[in-house]
Amino acid sequence: MSEEKSLNFLEEIVETDLKNGKYKSIITRFPPEPNGYLHIGHAKSICLNFGLAKDYGGRTNLRFDDTNPVTEDTEYVESIKEDINWLGFDWSNEFYASDYFDQLFIHAVTLINKGLAYVDDSSAEEIARLKGTPTEVGKDSTYRSRSIAENIVLFNEMKEGKYKDGEKVLRAKIDMSHTNMLMRDPIIYRIKHAHHHRTGDKWCIYPMYDFAHGQSDSIENITHSICTLEFIPHRELYDWLIYQLETFPSHQYEFARLNMTYTVMSKRKLLQLVNEEHVSGWDDPRMPTICGFRRKGYTPLSIRNFCEKIGVAKRENLIDLSLLEFCVREDLNETAKRVMVVLDPIKLIITNYEEGKTEELHSENGPDETMGSRALPFGRELWIEREDFMEEPAKKWFRLAPGAAVRLKSAYIVKCESFEKDDFGKIISIHCSYFPDSKSGNDTSGIAVKGTIHWVSVAHAKTAEVRLYDRLFQVENPSAEEGDFKEYINPNSLEIISQAFIEPSLEKAAKDDRFQFIRKGYFCLDKDATADKLVFNRTVTLKDAWGKMKI
Ligand code: ATP
Ligand code: MG
Repeated sequence: MSEEKSLNFLEEIVETDLKNGKYKSIITRFPPEPNGYLHIGHAKSICLNFGLAKDYGGRTNLRFDDTNPVTEDTEYVESIKEDINWLGFDWSNEFYASDYFDQLFIHAVTLINKGLAYVDDSSAEEIARLKGTPTEVGKDSTYRSRSIAENIVLFNEMKEGKYKDGEKVLRAKIDMSHTNMLMRDPIIYRIKHAHHHRTGDKWCIYPMYDFAHGQSDSIENITHSICTLEFIPHRELYDWLIYQLETFPSHQYEFARLNMTYTVMSKRKLLQLVNEEHVSGWDDPRMPTICGFRRKGYTPLSIRNFCEKIGVAKRENLIDLSLLEFCVREDLNETAKRVMVVLDPIKLIITNYEEGKTEELHSENGPDETMGSRALPFGRELWIEREDFMEEPAKKWFRLAPGAAVRLKSAYIVKCESFEKDDFGKIISIHCSYFPDSKSGNDTSGIAVKGTIHWVSVAHAKTAEVRLYDRLFQVENPSAEEGDFKEYINPNSLEIISQAFIEPSLEKAAKDDRFQFIRKGYFCLDKDATADKLVFNRTVTLKDAWGKMKI
């Protein structure tokens, strides 16, 4: 690690552990449940787990926490792998908690044999009732005193499918008056007659999260098991199981989950948005999912930079979405190719430019010379943005107005002589004269103008659909508002421009290309684009329109 950088608390722990020789090298894991697509919160966890291992010469396992057969699916497994790779990380091993079902079963039997687990026939309601409350101790279930031999028989019968869902559970025998409610004889196995995406119908009992997760860490010799703050109370059970089973002493560390403004992050809520068709799918560019951001044109580097900038907190907070957008702009500003696109066209006719004449002009592709330049066809008729003309100009208006002059980007200076309106008073064309000696790069006209506007030659323009996205929610924290979070969806989160005029070079736009539509924002090709119809997504606007940056 570089000396200047101050360490976050996890880096401090890792450095200390390595210095003291507690571990020769570290092993972290990223443990998604394959029940949905990854979102930006997961990206934070990925950057943290893979980042720590990378910085300290360790390893990171990808482990699918697939202990819940009902909600899990191979589709999610594939998307999760794709997203992690896309973010720029590679795992040392691909593991599945379901690979450990045999081992976990043996661990459960060990607990029974030590008198530390029992089969309980009580209903879920009865178990909850006897559990007590944080201020009231729980009561022992009548089944708590079953003999070890009886428990072994019953647990095996559970495994063999003798009982129906919910008829019996296996519980750890800890302490029904424990101050930590999770230690009051937690359930460690339940009966679930369901097909599992990997183990098929082999099992009808499944280990519960705390048991499976912690012991999977131990099986993999995970040194630093990093999770979010809500798991703090689970740590005691995590440690208890390791102690009783005498397995590898993995340690759990907690950090604050990432919450972001104008979005929701729980998979359950994201699934609702998809199922109820508020968005077009998990990869809708308005979704906070990795695949949504990817489709929108965000870069892996910008997401990694964002995760680095927000740091690792120990207290819950709400991160401004503007910060993520800032990171996206910062990256794209360096790399995006500059092009000209007119979104809301109005025709500009250069009256003193020869009819039928075409000139090939050149324009820089970006701020960096190494990005080269491209040819731009120029002619007598051009599309410009409607908003670049004002019939009655405001003060400090440097764009087009009757009698005013502007520079056409990478071309000539033009002066507005007149304009034409239709019967409804809508301006349909602007007539200008141009100064032949004012050509960009070779301007000898001596005319000074303050404004530069973009344009596309009418004769050479191609068309495209352009999708402009805004925030999916109208309020900063939809989950904290009253009522259903979906009431706060922004009805104007997508604006579709069905026919924008694009410069001809854009016809060759490819999947991973990033563009700056000059003065309009950053854009990329959408997956809906075909050879006949180009479709572009706005990745992010050029400036933050929503408020001041809080970094
Ligand atoms: P969700 O609440 O969205 O369903 P989850 O925690 O159930 O998320 P998992 O698939 O279990 O999703 O998460 C995999 C890993 O990602 C876990 O280690 C979890 O702690 C971490 N993670 C999930 N959401 C966030 C978040 N918002 N910020 C940081 N880490 C997160
Ligand atoms: Mg989870």
